[in-house]
Amino acid sequence: MNRFIFVLSKIVDVFFHDQLQSMQVLKFGGASIKDAAGVRNIAEIVKNKYPYPTLIVVSASGKTTNAMELVLDAYWQQNQEDIHQALNAVKAHHQAIVQELFAAEHPIVDEMHDIFIDLEWILEETPQDTYDYLYDQIVSTGEMLSTLIVAYYFNDVGLNSQWMDVRDCIRTDNNYRDAQVDWVETLQAVQIKVAPMLDTKIVVTQGFLGGTSENFTTTLGREGSDFTAAIFSYCLDAESMTIWKDVPGVLTADPRIFDNPPLIEALSYTEALEMTYYGAQVIHPKTIRPLQNKMIPLHVKSFLQADKSGTLIQSYSDIVYPPMIVVKNQQALLKIVSKDFYFVDEGKFSELFSLLASYRIKVNMTQNTALAFSVCVNNDESKIEQLINALASSYTVEVIDQLKLITIRHSEDTLYKDLRANKKIYLEEKIRSNIQLLMHQDEKL
Ligand code: ADP
Ligand code: ASP
Ligand code: MG
Repeated sequence: MNRFIFVLSKIVDVFFHDQLQSMQVLKFGGASIKDAAGVRNIAEIVKNKYPYPTLIVVSASGKTTNAMELVLDAYWQQNQEDIHQALNAVKAHHQAIVQELFAAEHPIVDEMHDIFIDLEWILEETPQDTYDYLYDQIVSTGEMLSTLIVAYYFNDVGLNSQWMDVRDCIRTDNNYRDAQVDWVETLQAVQIKVAPMLDTKIVVTQGFLGGTSENFTTTLGREGSDFTAAIFSYCLDAESMTIWKDVPGVLTADPRIFDNPPLIEALSYTEALEMTYYGAQVIHPKTIRPLQNKMIPLHVKSFLQADKSGTLIQSYSDIVYPPMIVVKNQQALLKIVSKDFYFVDEGKFSELFSLLASYRIKVNMTQNTALAFSVCVNNDESKIEQLINALASSYTVEVIDQLKLITIRHSEDTLYKDLRANKKIYLEEKIRSNIQLLMHQDEKL
């Protein structure tokens, strides 16, 4: 290579690398943009705090994903009245935000109208595809609407931003509703498409969504927008990632269930991974790994108190943690008993776990005796039904549902005793700093 070009390419490399080094990824969840005031607030946060190349991942506004699920269910059941009612609620929610933020002749009005027309076209056909496929094509509308609003509003208030279709970047398989990321394709697409845009613009894109190689929309699992932000952080070697929540940061428990749980200011990747694995809703469990792999710090902050430092998650080794409680709802206990009096031994375990994996049933706790294998799983009724059918020839399966799983980390004796007192416990496990209790969902904590 000509020496001049070589030196030039090195300079470009270094410059580009430096740019990406100071690059920030932000994720704003549904609660932060639930109304027009929320959209104004996040624009202020970006204006005041991010003079860097910044990529912004946005979820659907407020509870739109739940509202879109109602649209889908009505469509699946072909109940025209419910379809219209559910769709009108989604339209009214977004129109109210748009009316408050934009003038009547603003281009967003037509663009939003077009999104709803496309959706109505789908809803006019009788369903021909699987529920999961239709879920992703329909429910994804929430993120398309929210990002349109945020990107236009940012530009209107002087934040030079670019709306981007995430489905062109995050490449997944076609396992609809729980799509798995193709990291090689995604890394390449993000570096080619997104990195150059960040030189001059703030990029605004959708959380939760991906696209197959055939350009069908996929979703990454409910609450998956945190994970989307982590994928971009990884692919762009972001300097840090921040998720903006309606809580001051990661707390020792869910404040909707426990009064005033204290803020945890510093959390290691390992501890964050454990907490989220057991169901701490504040961060999606898949978020931590890509960040840990590249040692990218994760801030969890409140969009209501943007100046407070919140929680910083990174590599720490010497933290002593306070007791923490994680509550995971919608659990079922499956008691699987061998019919022919064979032991449930290693061979049987291996068969049972292969089946659980093949139906993608999430296992949260297990216990076994000579003839029985008890397993606490996420209560996905249709998957459990398929599993029971597959086991029917060799096992009887008893199902107890409406349960919740309480995980106590770094427990103190009194806390454990208090949480357990006067309750029927269906399954219990104690491993070092981890205690788990399975109880009825109506038990008061
Ligand atoms: P997003 O707006 O990004 O979707 P979520 O609603 O999914 O945010 O997550 C924030 C919520 O997580 C909080 O409102 C809080 O009720 C809940 N939560 C559960 N466990 C915790 C915890 N340990 N710390 C903080 N919040 C928690
Ligand atoms: N909008 C999606 C959901 O509510 C993804 C997310 O918010 O993270 O599940
Ligand atoms: Mg959420």
